[in-house]
Amino acid sequence: AKELGGNLYSMFTSDLEETIEKKLILQRNLHKALERGEFHLVYQPQLQLDTGQIQGIEALVRWNNPELGLVSPEDFIPLAEESRQILSIGEWVLRTACGQNKAWQNEGFPPVRMAVNLSSIQFEHDELIPAIRRILDETGLEARWLELEITESLLLRNKIKTMRTLRQLKELGVHIAMDDFGVGYSSLSYLNYYPFDRLKIDKSFIHHMNDRTGDEWIVRTVIQLAHGLHMTVVAEGVETEEQLTYLKKQSCDCIQGYLISKPLAPSLLQEKLWGGSGT
Ligand code: C2E
Ligand code: CA
Ligand code: CA
Ligand code: CA
Repeated sequence: AKELGGNLYSMFTSDLEETIEKKLILQRNLHKALERGEFHLVYQPQLQLDTGQIQGIEALVRWNNPELGLVSPEDFIPLAEESRQILSIGEWVLRTACGQNKAWQNEGFPPVRMAVNLSSIQFEHDELIPAIRRILDETGLEARWLELEITESLLLRNKIKTMRTLRQLKELGVHIAMDDFGVGYSSLSYLNYYPFDRLKIDKSFIHHMNDRTGDEWIVRTVIQLAHGLHMTVVAEGVETEEQLTYLKKQSCDCIQGYLISKPLAPSLLQEKLWGGSGT
């Protein structure tokens, strides 16, 4: 038993050491990633179901590092938040996404709203409003063509400060979407309290609609709830025709997912949506 304990112990320490070392390597590389131009954005369209038109596009960040390869945002965003580098990375994401949207508009493609994910660190930073104002100004994008996606975790914090920031964003003319709805710290009271334009149903509910009793009901109920509170609804992670059919039947407004398109580089998405050049 003693020996087993010893083995287990060394097994755990080496696992732990490996995890820590991985984190250190990520952190060291992340530090230089922005200046080295290692980030790029991919774009995923959102289809409006009643018109059949592409109504919005979500920008998703990618990190390609020579030593590490392609690192998932699920792995590096938390580290970037810890070190607060998310502030400069997030600003780069906003500027790039807004610039891309303006470039598409300039080419004469049908206008779409660009959705950008906002970390709670960015949301709580005093410079958020001036930064967004500046980015819109620099890129020439009108505020109504920008949507910010925020998550529920943010709403647990200072209610008054959160409301003030949301109001300032709304005054600018930016749209606000509640991302990943239904996972984490959902509370129904804030849905009626904060001024959200859209609600994004988390993909975990969409994925289990066909195999887990209850998830169809959750999706259906969340759509009705959102409509009752004057929000539109986006279903995330839609992968099958079956899911699409159900969401249509339940009057979901918009869908996003591999069924329509994977997130793509701008030139590929442009080709896919609008086929080549604008007007
Ligand atoms: P999210 O905001 O919930 O983004 C949706 C994720 O689902 C994306 O993963 C997207 O590629 C993936 N996805 C889209 N359609 C489907 C589908 O049909 N099936 C499945 N299985 N997945 C689908 P991704 O790009 O790996 O991003 C993961 C998360 O990282 C995002 O989740 C978001 O929380 C965060 N993230 C990505 N870009 C940014 C960013 O620029 N800033 C911040 N703060 N967070 C970001
Ligand atoms: Ca999102
Ligand atoms: Ca989401
Ligand atoms: Ca997510």
